[in-house]
Amino acid sequence: MKKQILKLTMIALFSSAIFVSCSSEQSSESTEQVVEAAYYCPMKCEGDKTYKEEGSCPVCGMDLVEKE
Ligand SMILES: [Zn+2]
Repeated sequence: MKKQILKLTMIALFSSAIFVSCSSEQSSESTEQVVEAAYYCPMKCEGDKTYKEEGSCPVCGMDLVEKE
């Protein structure tokens, strides 16, 4: 009977360890997806307007700078 309890405890600890590692991986993935790069014109032709994609400013044609 004691052996069975020990086995169950080991299984519970093992499965919880897997659950913790899985959930931490998922959270790190989701944060990567949430963070979106923003690009802005260094001349601020359109004020604080940012663009989601890298490229050049549609107003002055300068390369957009990534916002940090
Ligand atoms: Zn510009």
